[in-house]
Amino acid sequence: RRVLGIETSCDETGIAVYDGERGLVAQAVYSQIEIHAQYGGVVPELASRDHVRKTLPLIRQVLEESGLDPASIDGVAYTAGPGLVGALLVGAALGRSLAWAWGVPAVGVHHMEGHLLAPLLEDPAPAFPFVALLVSGGHTQLVDVTGVGRYRILGESLDDAAGEAFDKTAKILDLPYPGGPELAKLAERGNPERFRFPRPMTDRPGLDFSFSGLKTFALNTVRETLPEALDPDQARADIARAFEEAVVDTLVIKCRRALQETGHRRLILAGGVSANRRLRERMNAAVTAAGGETFYPRPSLCTDNGAMIAYAGWQRLRAGHVEPLAFKPRARWPMEELTPA
Ligand code: ATP
Ligand code: MG
Ligand code: FE
Repeated sequence: RRVLGIETSCDETGIAVYDGERGLVAQAVYSQIEIHAQYGGVVPELASRDHVRKTLPLIRQVLEESGLDPASIDGVAYTAGPGLVGALLVGAALGRSLAWAWGVPAVGVHHMEGHLLAPLLEDPAPAFPFVALLVSGGHTQLVDVTGVGRYRILGESLDDAAGEAFDKTAKILDLPYPGGPELAKLAERGNPERFRFPRPMTDRPGLDFSFSGLKTFALNTVRETLPEALDPDQARADIARAFEEAVVDTLVIKCRRALQETGHRRLILAGGVSANRRLRERMNAAVTAAGGETFYPRPSLCTDNGAMIAYAGWQRLRAGHVEPLAFKPRARWPMEELTPA
């Protein structure tokens, strides 16, 4: 009934408790951004070491804040993959050990299932079936979702993930790591008419994506424009805006296509990029115009967090999922291998 969630797949330590009756009762996220910023990207070994340092104190903090003691926890959910294997091992080892010590079941959660189910933590929650657009740092996937654990991948990125494209383009624009939110901020004061980026793979049928060309397009535009620009700062904002427009447009086109092909009328967005304001606005407008409905997690539940892991674990434990004492995090783990809950 009450599940402790532990997320350590990348550079955030996320801890939360989900209660089947009361909902989300407490949560905390610690971001390692400052540690990795000086390297311009996540350094796996530093990530693992910092999870070792942070996970247990955060669990103590969350239990204290929620007024719960370990005896009132009925299960432990930890992220078992996909992600950085060293970072995953920290959460898995600790989660599995705590569950053993407390005499409760443990469950290894698929990180992307966590993202995918996060909109169900909101009110109103979307009913099944729906189409899910997962847009994060490592994934861009359209999924036909008919229930918990019933996932059919409709399309995905053949190269860079949407978030990855945001981060790489931000780097090209000299923005600090992690660049996605910074690029979105810069794009706010950009002129959308000045540059036009391509909408990759929208001129042919299908639901796959390709975003790596956009970053190359950004690089070429920077090289051609910035050296002679009268106002280089405005030019950077204009490029950021054109890039964002292209990603948003592409995602909107493919989502409408996915709704049409599946016949579903509900669309959920999840993963870090779903925090993007312009994406939400444009997706709402397009899907509503087509008679559908969109659902998102609150921005803090779009990026990595413990709440989505606690919730996905709660769903699995409730469905009777049992796991042996041995645990095995997976760096790669196709979501379609999951069994229905
Ligand atoms: P995955 O979930 O695929 O393993 P991840 O856990 O690293 O990858 P998330 O934490 O879900 O990814 O999301 C982080 C990504 O979201 C980063 O690429 C970041 O730049 C991007 N992002 C966050 N906020 C925004 C925003 N407002 N606009 C665009 N991108 C954003
Ligand atoms: Mg992260
Ligand atoms: Fe994630």
